[in-house]
Amino acid sequence: MIRKTRLFTPGPTPLLPAAQFAMAAADIHHRTAEFRALYTRVLAQLKEFVGTRNDVILLSSSGTGAMEASVSNLTSPGDRVLILTAGKFGERWSGICKAFGCHVDVVSAPYGQTFSIDEVKASLHLETRAVFMQATETSTGVRHCVPAIAKLLKDTHSEALLIVDAITGLGTTHLDMDAWGVDVLVGGSQKAVMIPPGLSYLAISDRAWDRMEATYNPRYYFDLRKERKNAKLGESAYTPAVALIAALGAAFDWIAAQGDGSLVEGRKRLIENAETVAAMTRAAMIALGLKLFAPDASGAAATAVLAPEGVDSGIFVKELKSRFAAIITNGQGEMKGQIFRIAHLGFFDYMDTIALIGALEQVVVKSVPQLNAKFGDGLIAAQKLYAERSPTAAADNKCLCGRELTHCSLQHPDAK
Ligand SMILES: *Cc1c(COP(=O)(O)O)cnc(C)c1O
Repeated sequence: MIRKTRLFTPGPTPLLPAAQFAMAAADIHHRTAEFRALYTRVLAQLKEFVGTRNDVILLSSSGTGAMEASVSNLTSPGDRVLILTAGKFGERWSGICKAFGCHVDVVSAPYGQTFSIDEVKASLHLETRAVFMQATETSTGVRHCVPAIAKLLKDTHSEALLIVDAITGLGTTHLDMDAWGVDVLVGGSQKAVMIPPGLSYLAISDRAWDRMEATYNPRYYFDLRKERKNAKLGESAYTPAVALIAALGAAFDWIAAQGDGSLVEGRKRLIENAETVAAMTRAAMIALGLKLFAPDASGAAATAVLAPEGVDSGIFVKELKSRFAAIITNGQGEMKGQIFRIAHLGFFDYMDTIALIGALEQVVVKSVPQLNAKFGDGLIAAQKLYAERSPTAAADNKCLCGRELTHCSLQHPDAK
């Protein structure tokens, strides 16, 4: 049989054809009226997509560049910062903050879990200048409760800025930065917006812009104030990734079309799509006898699945690739060999999900017989979930962050 290569990876994700065409046609110079019109339009769409009134800055870099920019622009050497970490991307915040001379406090949770709000509260000091976290921790599949942390900072009248890596959170999980009081929301292009790697972006609150006036860590390429000034004129400070910006505009047009012309509605559908395919995937994995790595805090960006006792998770990755050209990912770092991850962010739909579950059944039946799974076990569970799922009924039972209330920190009566 022939095999079509398909990415089921949490970045890069499958490319939207309309975005690829836009990229190929983007033969324009960045100091022209044509580019200024494109840039101005895409920045406006980006604001709508993020769902904020704040200025959004677009950078030509991978997501980590925007993470670094938030640290270099918003901290000074010696600043006390609090990192909330439960995986590889949380650890990246620590690495960046240390590189810029911050005094780093850490609240951590084991991989596959989220941190306790009480512990965060206890680790928040009067001098804490910023709190860094992920909306979704891609290395473990966990969704953290951003509104709970935002509420904690508000309730304690903390001066700390809340800086959220939403690189896989945007487009897969409900985020309302203005209402919750998030100061910086970081995104990246190779995730839910369905274009190649190379662009990152940050939505920045007025409070954070004010902070930037007083901080003095070194910055040059990632000087956000310089980018803001240029953006107002429809330009970027340096040569931008023009083709990717054209692709991003096309992707936003497509997302808006999914929402009957409204980008805000389109983003909601994109999130609901990720939630649905994630729920189908979880149901299928459980029906096949596999265990979820993050059962109590699962997000919709990616699902992490534990390999059974004595089985290397690499077998799932290898067999899906060699037999079906389906690319999933292994665990990162010390999680390698223990888990495999299936992404749901961006250009994945019902069809892709059913196909992947079918292929995974082939792998399980042939190569992991100790699970005693039969053909159809996973598919039946996914089909039923799809048929019975009602987004509105599901919403009643959900925390603001999108998790089941029983699993989330905002379940406390005083939460809303
Ligand atoms: C992909 C990703 C990043 C960014 O990684 P880059 O390789 O720099 O684009 C950061 N945080 C999370 C949670 C991610 O999933």
